[in-house]
Amino acid sequence: MTELDLFATPADDAGPEEEAPLFATVAPEVPVPGAFTYRVPPALRERVQVGVRVRVPFGPRAVPGLVLELAPACAVDPRKVRPITQVLEGAPVLDPGVLELARWAAAYYHTPLGEVLAAAVPQDVTARGRPAPRIARLVDPPPGRPARLGAAQRKVLDALAAGPRAADELCQALDVGPDVLRRLEARGLVLLEEAAAPAAPGSDPAPGPAPPELTVEQRLVLGPLLRQVEERQPVVTLLFGITGSGKTEVYLRAIARALELGRGAIVLVPEIALTPQTLARFRARFGDRVAVLHSQLAGEARRGEWRRIRAGEAPVVVGPRSAVWAPVPELGLIVVDEEHETTYKQEHAPRYHARDLAVVRGKQAGVPVLLGSATPSLESWHNATGGRYRLARLRSRPAGSALPRVTVVDMGREWAEVKSPVVLSRVLVREVTAALERGERALLFQNRRGFTTFFMCGACGHVLKCPQCDVTLTLHRAAGAVVCHFCDLRQAPPRGCPACLGPAMRQRGYGTERVEEVVRQLFPAAAVGRLDTDVVREGEPAEVVLDRFRRGEVQVLVGTQMIAKGLDIPEVTVVGVISADTGLALPDFRASERTFQLVAQVAGRAGRGARPGCTVIQTFTPGHFALAAAADHDFERFAREELRARQALDYPPYSRVLKLLLRGPDERKVQDEAVRVVDDVRGACVGQDGVRAVLGPAPSPRAYLTGKFRWQALVKATPEGVRRVIRHLEERRPRGVEWLVDVDPYHVL
Ligand code: ADP
Ligand code: ZN
Repeated sequence: MTELDLFATPADDAGPEEEAPLFATVAPEVPVPGAFTYRVPPALRERVQVGVRVRVPFGPRAVPGLVLELAPACAVDPRKVRPITQVLEGAPVLDPGVLELARWAAAYYHTPLGEVLAAAVPQDVTARGRPAPRIARLVDPPPGRPARLGAAQRKVLDALAAGPRAADELCQALDVGPDVLRRLEARGLVLLEEAAAPAAPGSDPAPGPAPPELTVEQRLVLGPLLRQVEERQPVVTLLFGITGSGKTEVYLRAIARALELGRGAIVLVPEIALTPQTLARFRARFGDRVAVLHSQLAGEARRGEWRRIRAGEAPVVVGPRSAVWAPVPELGLIVVDEEHETTYKQEHAPRYHARDLAVVRGKQAGVPVLLGSATPSLESWHNATGGRYRLARLRSRPAGSALPRVTVVDMGREWAEVKSPVVLSRVLVREVTAALERGERALLFQNRRGFTTFFMCGACGHVLKCPQCDVTLTLHRAAGAVVCHFCDLRQAPPRGCPACLGPAMRQRGYGTERVEEVVRQLFPAAAVGRLDTDVVREGEPAEVVLDRFRRGEVQVLVGTQMIAKGLDIPEVTVVGVISADTGLALPDFRASERTFQLVAQVAGRAGRGARPGCTVIQTFTPGHFALAAAADHDFERFAREELRARQALDYPPYSRVLKLLLRGPDERKVQDEAVRVVDDVRGACVGQDGVRAVLGPAPSPRAYLTGKFRWQALVKATPEGVRRVIRHLEERRPRGVEWLVDVDPYHVL
């Protein structure tokens, strides 16, 4: 049948049913967002399925792409639609469940499906990428050798007689081309097999210690969860339990049940590098049935893990937010550990929130979802107390250890009393000293990197700022530079004031580098270490630093929030929060929540063992309710107060927020477009379909970043209202500037 026949009009006396036209929506694997329609030629009809990789013409080239959808009709003129030219892989690489989730995300987060899929299916699985390494071995038993073999072929066979070899390595060693191997394969003399994925470190299935006997509380929590797993109930449970209350043990038991039933599980963790202990426990319990999707895992290793998951060999997937896309064939359960963590929100497109996608995936797949936290997000808490989620609690620690005693130090008063702007208060110095004398360890938390965070001229008041970003520059002493924390601009530290040429630039504010130095001076006999992204960037992986601390080679560890998570070391008895105010002053509706979570999490690192711990919180606002509640380990009190404020201002969880950002190099243009578009949205949408308010436009709090002016607006609406605003924006798009929307933004800055 010719191409023209395919589109013959009905008057032509249409042919048999199956020859009706068929169109495929394909996301080409090119850096262009979007999906395009192609015709499915009759010859390929049988093999083109949703999720299959095909080759399609794209511009002047032919490129691979994923088939997203099949339909009997298409919106454009069918004669202009080009055909799929080839089916590249027999089986779909795109899991139907993952595609369904990707569609949901594309619509909800207003992102082209192709862009979502690029995030969902690792590049190297679908893309051109190198073929998997192959192992060459002799066919066993060998057929009678045909007489005529080339010298190169004979060389290969002789080498393989000693045992299988990696194909690449063999070709290189013998200096023969890959075609030699292929010819031998074609003659049935050599087998070329895909190498198994390299075993992940520590994946030996050595049996771990026997699981502990569950506490009464754990049993009560687990009962309904096991039933949900068994009966495939799409129920979301918020497991609210203080740090160390045995939540992970509950996850492990629920997953074990899913495995018994022949199903798999996805476990989302905030960041793999920072949760080695959690990972070790999963490995100890489930051995090589655990796949780990590191964000740093690159190339073949990642591809290998992905294939093990897809093949059902590794039914338990542990990973950061992108693991929500894991193609687990028989999903039985999804766990989101530390569900409140900010790392679950992706801050670049597609701007999805992995916890929310986990809930959606659970619903789509018909499986239970378990969200665990000691300091739940207010969204999840609201859902749990409002009956949309089940609430389960663990109130005590199985080990019986008590929560640490918390002391709040008023730093304003401290500075006045000691007549000096000290970094560590007397109380904190005393506690650290005592801990070191007892042979114990201390964690000191400061949520800012660098040495000093701010330079100001003593004479003219000039503040040193990044020329591209309008934010203050931070001195990084180790790197010998002042650095912009937004664009990473680095320059030599100022000798004097660049504005008035005066000699003295005063340095203010302190980051982890400075805290480290102060700690070394205060405790000269102690082994002091530091962990922040600078340390990691300079070549020391977080695990290495944390291991040193774990083994006691470092006694006092100074760090950013990298030390706040997942650390479970019995010898840590003192935790200091150097300045708890860092986040409170930000004009962000989540400022209090973030501060509460941070302080509560950090405090939870102390006294995990038999010895009681103590936490010292230094602050200039000792009366702030978030700090007071964190000091009392009272999440519910914090939640009550904070929810009252959110409700009064109609912020999440009482509304959804959509952030609209416009940016460009021409300030006037950005402003004009922002005003036009936002006024337009306000006029057309507010008061209708759940669009409750539009705030702005205004210069965004970071008004000038990486050479672009930024204006933003916030929309408060119901989910339907958010969709309505997005539709409106699509129709009346901002012109001549970049624009983007962030649905459920985590930072409104
Ligand atoms: P969470 O995940 O809530 O922080 P974990 O599950 O890590 O808590 O438990 C904290 C500590 O208590 C761990 O060392 C864990 O091995 C131990 N643990 C958990 N459940 C029990 C139990 N039922 N009996 C004894 N120890 C337990
Ligand atoms: Zn900058």
